[in-house]
Amino acid sequence: MDSYRFVILGGGVVAGNAAQEFARCEIPPGELCIVSAEKTLPYDRPPLSKDFLANEKTVEEILINEPGFYQANGIVVRLDTAVTHVDLDNKKLYANGDTIAYDKLLIATGARPRTLDVMGHDLQNIFYLRHIGDARDIRQQAQQVQQAVVVGGSFIGMEATAVLQSSGIATTMIFPEARVWQAFFTPEMSRFFENYYRNRGVTLLSEEKVTAFAGNGRVQKVITESGREVPADMVVVGIGVVPNKELFADCGLHIADKGIVVNRFLETNFPGVMAAGDITVYEDVVYNQQLHIEHWDNAVQQGKHAARVMLGEMQPFAHVPYFFSDVFDLSYEFWGDPSGAVQTVHRGEVEDGRFSVWWLAADGRLLAAFVMDRPDEEREMAPQWIQSGKKLTTEWLTESKSFVAKSAAA
Ligand SMILES: Cc1cc2nc3c(=O)[nH]c(=O)nc-3n(C[C@H](O)[C@H](O)[C@H](O)COP(=O)(O)OP(=O)(O)OC[C@H]3O[C@@H](n4cnc5c(N)ncnc54)[C@H](O)[C@@H]3O)c2cc1C
Repeated sequence: MDSYRFVILGGGVVAGNAAQEFARCEIPPGELCIVSAEKTLPYDRPPLSKDFLANEKTVEEILINEPGFYQANGIVVRLDTAVTHVDLDNKKLYANGDTIAYDKLLIATGARPRTLDVMGHDLQNIFYLRHIGDARDIRQQAQQVQQAVVVGGSFIGMEATAVLQSSGIATTMIFPEARVWQAFFTPEMSRFFENYYRNRGVTLLSEEKVTAFAGNGRVQKVITESGREVPADMVVVGIGVVPNKELFADCGLHIADKGIVVNRFLETNFPGVMAAGDITVYEDVVYNQQLHIEHWDNAVQQGKHAARVMLGEMQPFAHVPYFFSDVFDLSYEFWGDPSGAVQTVHRGEVEDGRFSVWWLAADGRLLAAFVMDRPDEEREMAPQWIQSGKKLTTEWLTESKSFVAKSAAA
């Protein structure tokens, strides 16, 4: 049995960034072990649906830390090691017939793609996108096909569609909602992105549910509830994720639908056991409510924060949620949490793709902001104003040309 002061269960974005923080704090060699089911050292996932998928980046370029980092800092990384049982009472993990003991544990098992279990789901050339191997398989197939279907009209679906269409594959997006990324985009935003995608040759089939895949060994068409049969040489499914929480079902951890519940310090209800990233439902101190975030920045920041708390620096995790996306030649950023907003205000030229969107609470408090191709001051102010609970008015946001020229309403 090997024993470590700190163990990170999971080898993704949280793990790579927590390791960086442990190293920065100069923990003695041999105190930290990362246990990962993956065969690759911790890497960033955002490129898997962008430049890595488009064959513009190598594995080395997406690693969070260069390969020599772990050994140089005395960090043990156990790859290809899926933990199959945890005993939190006795501080032990079990994997590959081995026992790994810890003093403090950081759970960072992330999430996995939700699957579409319809008829024909096991045909070849139907892909999900979470791991580096998935992206490799998709990009390899993409070199050999003419037409693709992407199932799902939100984050991963939009990004995968953009890469496939840009590489010359006629791509159809199929999603059940009335408009693209309906759960997040305003109707104006959906309209802009839908036009943008159509202008680049993408076919959008909204209000369509996939009921089956058909083909002879390999997928050849996608069948929808309305009876449509859409030809496809390959399919990418991006319909959300489910948390990897089953491992902890019987060990007394407080677990919610979307993940493991942690407090404002990212501690679970078990002393010495923390959780960070996609697997958490955390007590957020900016909005004073529980939040569950499935984005890169959250995994980076929570990973680093958890490491500091494990080393005794007891600070609450206070951070405005953030994410970014790149589709075709567009890049946008988003801060905050729009749930609870009663009004949205658009600034700039929505039709031209140079706009921002501001979500306000009933009392005018800024809750969230989306910014694409706008002056830098908007990117700079958005997180600051959300963090400070700044109150804004529709009139001010619509009328003021620049945030610097005029001071915001009280
Ligand atoms: C294709 C793709 C594109 C994305 N693009 C963006 C983007 O543009 N912007 C953005 O903000 N976010 C993006 N994200 C989301 C972001 O990457 C995630 O939020 C982030 O990876 C979460 O980090 P994590 O460490 O919590 O989980 P993960 O990075 O998923 O890591 C979890 C790790 O735990 C391991 N694991 C699970 N169970 C076990 C077990 N039993 N034993 C051992 N190991 C285990 C897994 O193998 C994995 O290594 C994207 C995600 C994907 C998949």
